[in-house]
Amino acid sequence: MSIGQPPRGTRRRRSGPTLRFALGVAAVVAVGIAVTVGVPMLREPGPRPLFQLPVPCGESWQLGTYPGHDDYDVDLFPTGGDSWGRPVLASAAGTVTVSGVNGSVGGRTEQNPQGPRGRGGGYWVKIDHGGRWETQYLHLLEAPMVSAGQQVAGGQQIGLVGSTGNSGAPHLHYEQRRGWQKVETYFDGLPSGITHDDYEYTVTLTSNNC
Ligand SMILES: [Zn+2]
Repeated sequence: MSIGQPPRGTRRRRSGPTLRFALGVAAVVAVGIAVTVGVPMLREPGPRPLFQLPVPCGESWQLGTYPGHDDYDVDLFPTGGDSWGRPVLASAAGTVTVSGVNGSVGGRTEQNPQGPRGRGGGYWVKIDHGGRWETQYLHLLEAPMVSAGQQVAGGQQIGLVGSTGNSGAPHLHYEQRRGWQKVETYFDGLPSGITHDDYEYTVTLTSNNC
């Protein structure tokens, strides 16, 4: 036995305090995790990013809602041309947090627009813009062009307009959220005016997502 190493019996007697010390460390680690994970969830949201319409610069689109949609939800239809396959762009820079299927895709395509209706949002993307702000893009034509964890620039294409999920016709369903809550959508610094789904309402805006 080398000098300084306690006899076996001493080591065993110390296992009690050692276990308590280990539990203490575990408790401190647990509190640390709770603080680092929990506090950002409770933190006040940051300033609203300068969101732009999720469609190419210069295009005019009709933004609308209808009874039963959900407050603040926006459906986008182009004012000219076909909806199928139009580019969907990120409203602002951020990190993709979801890219996949919400509900089910169904079978609605340009070739078969009245095909079997899917459920939920179909192909969709969710982007975290920091400061607890996020945007969502639903009913995309096919699997999104971006993946979860990917950084995207404002105006970067993330998918194509389609009619997957529970969608009657090709369009883009779009939401802006602050924290856990949907909020009125703002584009280029101005409110869209779509704040509830009590009745049909539409507004036409031109994209400055340049
Ligand atoms: Zn919608």
